Amino acid sequence: MDGREALGDAEWFDAHTHIGQNDPDGRKATPEEILAGLDQAGHRRSMLFAMHEPDGYRAANDAVLAAAAASGGRFTPLARIAPNEPGAVQEAQRALAAGAAGFKLHPRSDAFGLPHPVVDQVVALAHEQRGPVLFHAGRGIPHLGEAVVELARTYPGARLILAHAGISDLGWIAEDAAALDNLFFDTAWWNVADHLQLYATIPPGRILYASDMPYGPGIFASFCFLRVARAVGHGRDALRAIAGGQLSRIIAGEDPADLGPAPGVDAVGPRVIETERVVSYCSVALQLAFRGFDPSESIALARLACQTRRDGNVGELLHYADRLLTIAQESGAANPEMPFAMMPPTLLAMVIAGTPEVGAPPIAV
Ligand SMILES: [Zn+2]
Repeated sequence: MDGREALGDAEWFDAHTHIGQNDPDGRKATPEEILAGLDQAGHRRSMLFAMHEPDGYRAANDAVLAAAAASGGRFTPLARIAPNEPGAVQEAQRALAAGAAGFKLHPRSDAFGLPHPVVDQVVALAHEQRGPVLFHAGRGIPHLGEAVVELARTYPGARLILAHAGISDLGWIAEDAAALDNLFFDTAWWNVADHLQLYATIPPGRILYASDMPYGPGIFASFCFLRVARAVGHGRDALRAIAGGQLSRIIAGEDPADLGPAPGVDAVGPRVIETERVVSYCSVALQLAFRGFDPSESIALARLACQTRRDGNVGELLHYADRLLTIAQESGAANPEMPFAMMPPTLLAMVIAGTPEVGAPPIAV
């Protein structure tokens, strides 16, 4: 149903996966669980880094390095650096010497702003190695995009990645992204409208497939990527590069491939109001479920929006979304204490409804 096979022998390389046991958000993941997630999605490799560690990153970085060393080349380790911790630059140097390919920085959970002198030093180290630095990009991080654009200009050897589709800055950053061949965006995010803007306005050579496991399963992330990228007209070469080809080049220290310009906002095509209603109710449901609230009213409204007398593509698509939302309701009824249980089918319904030009998936659910 996700069409991964259509990429032939493309080596999928997930840019964003975590392990850790101490994140205050309660999520945990072992290397074995991430490998199982890669296997489930049919993916070979991932970049791996630590979840939040309130007591510092040295031991967590060692765990990531050990997992990578034991993975037969499946994990590429990034060291997580908290710039306000004493010895942050030394930890970055130590991790590089021990085999880290680059770094992960998280301004919100590690409580730092940009620009920051230690971040400059860490990016300078990546510049010397032609290695990646992945920045968490989300809500509540002022000036992240401006600072990262400035860093990309100053340190052309560093490969800077704005995670989560760069949603903090996606609205304005396209021109800078087009001009900087060392500024990338990972696709680890849920909202289909953000994905449409990402694939339509950011050049395909700057987009790196990513899941955010254990928070986002690879099997959903790859479905979403392929569907939205096809919706804006990307062909096989761009899909293969986004799925992993470009990240493989980056990690090998090669120059990133130029895959041409972004297709532009017009590639999104006319919106279909019936399916947009489904998207909007699904988005509300998902945001509620993410925050631990009951999304069932929004899912019921999304199902009502699926009731149609239209036939053809739109009718088929709404019928398909309705089936998924029925599954979401059934999961909710079976797990009344876990609003999370309703999310996977609701996510799929949102992505399918948000990309009507691709049609309903070929296999019925
Ligand atoms: Zn993450």
